Amino acid sequence: MALLDVLFCCLLAVWHCQPGLGLPLAPAGGQSPAPAVGQFWHVTDLHLDPTYHITDDHTKVCASSKGTNASNPGPFGDVMCDSPYYLILSAFDFIKNSGQEASFMIWTGDSPPHVPVHELSTDIVINVIANMTTTIRSLFPNLQVFPALGNHDYWPQDQLPTVTSKVYNAVANLWKPWLDEEAIHTLRKGGFYTQKVSTNLNLRIISLNTNLYYGPDVVTLNKTDPANQFEWLENTLNISQQNKEKVYIIAHIPMGYLPYSMSTTALREYYNERLVDIFRKYSTVIAGQFYGHTHRDSIMVLSDKTGSPINSLFVAPAVTPVKNALQKQTNNPGIRLFQYDPHDYKLLDMLQYYLNLTDANLKGESNWKLEYILTQTYNIEDLQPKSLYGLAKQFAILDSKKFIKYYNYFFVSYDNSVICNEKCKVFQICAITSLDHNSYVDCLKQYYMKHHL
Ligand SMILES: [Zn+2]
Ligand SMILES: [Zn+2]
Repeated sequence: MALLDVLFCCLLAVWHCQPGLGLPLAPAGGQSPAPAVGQFWHVTDLHLDPTYHITDDHTKVCASSKGTNASNPGPFGDVMCDSPYYLILSAFDFIKNSGQEASFMIWTGDSPPHVPVHELSTDIVINVIANMTTTIRSLFPNLQVFPALGNHDYWPQDQLPTVTSKVYNAVANLWKPWLDEEAIHTLRKGGFYTQKVSTNLNLRIISLNTNLYYGPDVVTLNKTDPANQFEWLENTLNISQQNKEKVYIIAHIPMGYLPYSMSTTALREYYNERLVDIFRKYSTVIAGQFYGHTHRDSIMVLSDKTGSPINSLFVAPAVTPVKNALQKQTNNPGIRLFQYDPHDYKLLDMLQYYLNLTDANLKGESNWKLEYILTQTYNIEDLQPKSLYGLAKQFAILDSKKFIKYYNYFFVSYDNSVICNEKCKVFQICAITSLDHNSYVDCLKQYYMKHHL
């Protein structure tokens, strides 16, 4: 079946699906008293593969396996494949029926599948994003959603432009029900926007297009401020500060260092340093940062120049379980719920939910469940920078049980026998605590050299 035909089938599937019982609530306010805890969902890296289907020829289960045998394909997917529509629907169905009341949802990008460039096109990419938008809209007609664009939400992938384009235009139109006029305007121009969460809340979302800072994006090579996003970001944060607002930063590709390799930033190093400078300057305004892209579950803590922790960052694991043929590990599908103090928007806790893919395929039913609650699993007070920094220090202790847990959750409990050796552990810990070049080098010196690895 051609990709577009399959996409159409997916859309039909969502129109015919049964509405669940639990309804997400619109932002609190009006006559009802403010709740003690505010909540929001974070979903990322859906990576729909519309070609996914069960067949005896395991090389033909999904285009995203690129001819490699699917390992154990079932209705909810396979680790060699991107998400079947059914898996994505099961995630949103779980959210809908969870009984959790959320005032909004953040959705940090990457909807199309990992397939060779010539198998996609601008129209297919737009269709996939439209399909995911329709799916979310039809299941949660009253929920405020804040999306961010991912490096796969473009064709050719990673080449997000600094000026308006067919894709920016398309998403600006698709996301009109969620965003105000000013947000739509900058989204159309450069793929980023800002918007207050609601008139009742003094909380602002800044949705960055960090794909412009991604190494493979040739459009932005040698540009100091692609799409003038840095200038816009500083202005936006400055105005927020004057208005005594709090800000949540959302984006697809995270700042900082990749936790599974040495000395590699997720973004080009120059841009990473710029972001570190800006976020340090406005750390009192920023109450949290939320990313996707790595498909893994990790935390980061931004410190000021003197080494004091000032900002908490959270990288959410993907819904897609896909890995390539060379990788041993991957992630189970995951989604998460954050809890914040509705008075100052400080982050209080995070509940990570997941689907045991093997189990779900075996039973033929999706039993999404709680994987862990961040404060409880690590016995910390809250999600504030000092608490997370203290946790990272505990991870560093030899044979730390908490770190073993963290590394298992990194892969969303895909394989609890997985072991992180000393070298692996140093990269993980330095990626948590050190987001700029100087502090990262210092961190490597402190742990890496000390252990003569
Ligand atoms: Zn992705
Ligand atoms: Zn990505």
